[in-house]
Amino acid sequence: MQILIGFLLAILIAVLAWRVGSLSNSGAWAAVLTGGLVFGLGGLPWAILLLTFFITSSALSRAFSKRKVSLAEKFSKGGRRDWGQVLANGALGAMLAIGYFIPPHREWLWLAFAGAMAAVNADTWSTELGVLSLIPPRLITTGQKVERGTSGGITFIGTLAAFGGAVLIGIAAVIFTAGREWPLSLGIIILGGLMGSLFDSLLGATVQAIYWCPTCNKETERHPTHTCGSPTSRVRGWSWFNNDMVNFACSLMGAIVTAGLWLLLS
Ligand SMILES: [Zn+2]
Repeated sequence: MQILIGFLLAILIAVLAWRVGSLSNSGAWAAVLTGGLVFGLGGLPWAILLLTFFITSSALSRAFSKRKVSLAEKFSKGGRRDWGQVLANGALGAMLAIGYFIPPHREWLWLAFAGAMAAVNADTWSTELGVLSLIPPRLITTGQKVERGTSGGITFIGTLAAFGGAVLIGIAAVIFTAGREWPLSLGIIILGGLMGSLFDSLLGATVQAIYWCPTCNKETERHPTHTCGSPTSRVRGWSWFNNDMVNFACSLMGAIVTAGLWLLLS
């Protein structure tokens, strides 16, 4: 019964998100699959965390859209999330929900899920709000000043936004993990979220595939063609390591840090 309700809820939300333009066709199908598994197998606490991430990040993507227009081409994809982006943020959560569903409903899998959601939420918040920074970002590796929207660039506002995104998931999670250990849960979820988000920036500055448009003389994540139509060529990073894989790695780092600390300290 819970599984049926979970999938119905996922279909309802995917259709709504598709109609307002937050999801593409393929993104809506991927959202039904991952959302249905998370809602149906994890139940209410898992649903609340996924929805907190989905609703706040969709809203932030649409906010300040005028100021973001000039930056939009830098990112590999626009506001409509496709299946790759949905799975990058949600596939790990769906796998953890499957694991948790199998008795004895291991507590560390719930913490891993909360850490993964905190990481993708922190990363989305920092990306969406970091571009509003008036001070240009600095590369996480060398501290060199880079153009706004450059992969691996971090700002004070973006880092603060990452912290806020992780805190919100942490608070939503501890409402459902009441008991003596809630301060520990809250702390390690926030830490997992921040570490995941920083790991995302580190990968963006080092191994993520970054391309060059010879017509616009600009770095871009877009491949094989730029928004202007010119073919792009790789300037750094591993060719197979695209933005979706970076986001998946971000969620994995959040899950490992939070669940690892939980197993160590609880
Ligand atoms: Zn171009």
